[in-house]
Amino acid sequence: MSVRTRFAPSPTGFLHIGGARTALYNWLYAKHHGGSFVLRVEDTDAERSTKASMQVILDGLKWLGLDWDEGPGVGGDFGPYHQSERVEIYDRYLAKLEASGHVYEDEGAIRFRVPDKLITVHDEICGDVSTNLKEQGSRRFNTETNEEEEANPDIVIKRPNGGYIFHFVNVVDDIEMGISHVIRGEDHLSNTPKHLALFEAFGVTPPTFAHIPLNLNPSGTKMSKRDQGALIHEYQESGFLPAAVNNYMALLGWSAKDDQEIFLPEELQSRFDLGGINKSNSKFDYDKCKWVNGEHLRQLSSTDLQDWAGPFLTRAGLPAGDARVPAALELSRERAQLLSEIPDVIATIFETVVTYDETSVAKVASQDDIANKLSALTSGLEGAESWDEVAIKSTITEAAQGVGVKMGALMLPCRVGVMGSTSGADLVPVLVLLGKPEVIRRLQEFSSQFG
Ligand code: GLU
Repeated sequence: MSVRTRFAPSPTGFLHIGGARTALYNWLYAKHHGGSFVLRVEDTDAERSTKASMQVILDGLKWLGLDWDEGPGVGGDFGPYHQSERVEIYDRYLAKLEASGHVYEDEGAIRFRVPDKLITVHDEICGDVSTNLKEQGSRRFNTETNEEEEANPDIVIKRPNGGYIFHFVNVVDDIEMGISHVIRGEDHLSNTPKHLALFEAFGVTPPTFAHIPLNLNPSGTKMSKRDQGALIHEYQESGFLPAAVNNYMALLGWSAKDDQEIFLPEELQSRFDLGGINKSNSKFDYDKCKWVNGEHLRQLSSTDLQDWAGPFLTRAGLPAGDARVPAALELSRERAQLLSEIPDVIATIFETVVTYDETSVAKVASQDDIANKLSALTSGLEGAESWDEVAIKSTITEAAQGVGVKMGALMLPCRVGVMGSTSGADLVPVLVLLGKPEVIRRLQEFSSQFG
């Protein structure tokens, strides 16, 4: 049997990291097994579903690279892929249940008779979970009277207004679309006995179920859209790489047997399987996510780095097309975890007027005999015969010896004079990149305040 998974979002909000992780696991599972990944829009709740929300979800999935083999914009043999356009199919399935005596009318609604027996969900992750829907649903807690009262355990599958209910359409579509594996959040585990009862009533073998543990925020409660890192579109704006976000999301609930943590996309596809999914809830950690991104930044090819960083350079007012950009970007790899941090690391290379950081300048000013040191440094570099890293380092070492200090004592003023601050990319490669005349010009300019 070929593997067919699906992501079935309800377009009532943003694409949240929990939903994106569900999409990723379904996508990875399908890819790993050479199957198909279906995108189905569960928009039967007309009041809460919006086009804008659907667009955010589609954009988020596209940005993450979680392309669907069937679904909106792509088509497929099992469409339409919006539930709001599938009413005829639901009517047809309802007629089957009517014919087999599984449903009845109740005050304008249609109810499905739940069986009075133990239903066992054989879940790939949570193990076996058994429930008797009739017993479970026959009493409910009334929050107004604070008392338990009798209830009708049979499930409403169609409202008096004609709208179909989630449980019914979800099962009908999984049947119609030939879904082989349902991978979804653990919050749906309690719905699954109802779904199994429906599958049985239709005489269809249910798909394999895998309910993935929840992803909690750092304080251990349900992640809300206000938590840092909750919304996928914010990752794009903050300078994350989609491959890194997928990598981190994969780790939120799954681990490789050898504890490897950094996976390039193809490797993630080949390593991911349901067996590695953890049984306990995961906790979201923004710093770890940034660390994963930094590791991916380091592994990008030069041209990919230029492509990804370009928009961030432009946004920061830097000349993205400048010939020095590729070399500058190489210098930023070790200092940036996010694409949005790159401009700060390399901005100084493209400045015509250096902006000095006050604390860094104060550190230089507090050195003994600074004017003398700066002048030895400047004239040393002016006399350098060649301009590569080795030549520059030995020139600075000689200049330091000339004034009786160690090389490090000249590196600090040199860095602040040329780059404006004690932080930023490695100094010597920056000097190479700037070229001798520009370095001398900057050092002279800086020295003038210590005359
Ligand atoms: N529309 C449901 C949700 O967003 C889908 C549940 C499922 O995957 O079966 O939670």
